[in-house]
Amino acid sequence: MDQSSRRLSPPEAPRAFGFFIDGAERPAGDREVMTRTSPGHDVPVTEIPQCSAADLDHAVSAARTAFEDRRWSGLNGAARAAVLLRTGALIRKRVDDIAYWETLESGKPIAQARAEITGCADMFEYASGLARSLHGDAFNNLGDGMFGVVTREPVGVVGIITPWNFPFLILCERVPYVLASGNCIVAKPSEFTSATTVMLAQILSEAGLPDGVFNVVTGTGPTIGQALAEHGDVDMLSFTGSTRTGRAIVAAAGASNFKKLGLELGGKNPQIVFADADLEDAADGVAFGIAFNTGQCCVSGSRLIVERSVAEKFAQMVADKLGKAVTGDPLDEATQLGAITTEAQNATILTYIETGQAEGATLVCGGAALDLGRGRYIAPTVFSNVTADMAIAREEIFGPVLTVTPFDTVDEAIAMANDTDYGLAASVWTKDIDKALMVTRRVQAGRFWVNTTLAGGPELPIGGFKQSGWGREAGIYGVEEYTQIKSVHIEIGKRNHWIG
Ligand code: NDP
Repeated sequence: MDQSSRRLSPPEAPRAFGFFIDGAERPAGDREVMTRTSPGHDVPVTEIPQCSAADLDHAVSAARTAFEDRRWSGLNGAARAAVLLRTGALIRKRVDDIAYWETLESGKPIAQARAEITGCADMFEYASGLARSLHGDAFNNLGDGMFGVVTREPVGVVGIITPWNFPFLILCERVPYVLASGNCIVAKPSEFTSATTVMLAQILSEAGLPDGVFNVVTGTGPTIGQALAEHGDVDMLSFTGSTRTGRAIVAAAGASNFKKLGLELGGKNPQIVFADADLEDAADGVAFGIAFNTGQCCVSGSRLIVERSVAEKFAQMVADKLGKAVTGDPLDEATQLGAITTEAQNATILTYIETGQAEGATLVCGGAALDLGRGRYIAPTVFSNVTADMAIAREEIFGPVLTVTPFDTVDEAIAMANDTDYGLAASVWTKDIDKALMVTRRVQAGRFWVNTTLAGGPELPIGGFKQSGWGREAGIYGVEEYTQIKSVHIEIGKRNHWIG
């Protein structure tokens, strides 16, 4: 039965998940168990094992064995594509179930979770084509005696550390692409949102992925995450999370085996609105850009940079839009803004709201926690009269808090947009094609939106400029990122001898 047509409630007792190594889900046994409480309901919903360093070694060794014996990398692209396609189909079949556990652990609205998970099926389906089309290059211009070939090979054992804001989506923006070229994986989900990563392991197995190719080790960041970053037998690591932890990952990689890194870190993303934009559309887009996933989104448009002539009116239009957005029980179909995922994040956002007021910014709307009887919620908040030196304008808040700063010229808007250590994403709203292109070219960001925001899909790559990260995920770029290149020179005919 389609769950969207019935009223959902949290489970009566928490569901126990295991960790996943070498094709089998393993129960916690005598390991400590982490109980996850639903941020929207304050009731325990899942139990996740706290794995040990020995469990991590076991998972890495299973992945290494699977990689070395070529049970996956040795298959042809068509066979790998078939597994990825079956995975996509199984995800589609189980959207409701995956979305339910995603919502319970993360606090995001169920309708949003369902849309994200459907998008994940699409990632697998798209990457299946890339498994077949990935290829190298040939050099036929090296003279009659020599032929050159460039091949792409999988890097080997890939670690993936994911955060709690989009547990399944961020995982699926990586896994199908990493698998497409024949790599093996050890994934470490956030301790707060591990359930759906274990569910993906079950699905991949059912879809025919050979044992040992995808493993999940559950546990905390400073233990399992750090050990994965330090592990000498992991060839590459994809990390998504804070810039602070990203620095620790870079240090750990440098101090161990110089593993290749992919990093998707923080953002403080500008939304540039010109007076000639369709202001109705722009207000809706800017409200969506800051409130989607309650602003707990690395690409959220948290800095509104708006042409002075319309600044006050436009800030009010955004506030009016946000006032109509429905904040509520994440399991309710009508909910648009759910709960704040972690206790720590809740405290961080509320502290930033206090800081904004203390810094002298003007509160246009929101500015407080919402009491819905249970769970933790924060009203979408807009601050105007924000100057570039304020902490709320410079630091990633990772919550539904928008800052508004006016500009007078195109150059000033571009300079303000670039006045940040980050460079993850940016949007521009204008009906003037010249301005749109000028801004798109000159603002430093890995993802750019013109008259829209937060658009995405499996084809276009994601990743950041500046301190927002290294490398790209998704698209053909995301597959190539997890390959290494080999140059092959092939001599044709008799060698011209060096020793006579
Ligand atoms: P972290 O960077 O600590 O967490 C992200 C992931 O890294 C989680 O899986 C976490 O595990 C893991 N991790 C934590 N410490 C280490 C470590 N030493 N070595 C390896 N892995 C580690 O983010 P927080 O949860 O602390 O959030 C803090 C801030 O980070 C937020 O306020 C937000 O600004 C930003 N953030 C950005 C995200 C993005 O999408 N770019 C996502 C999440 C946060 P565990 O959760 O089990 O500790």
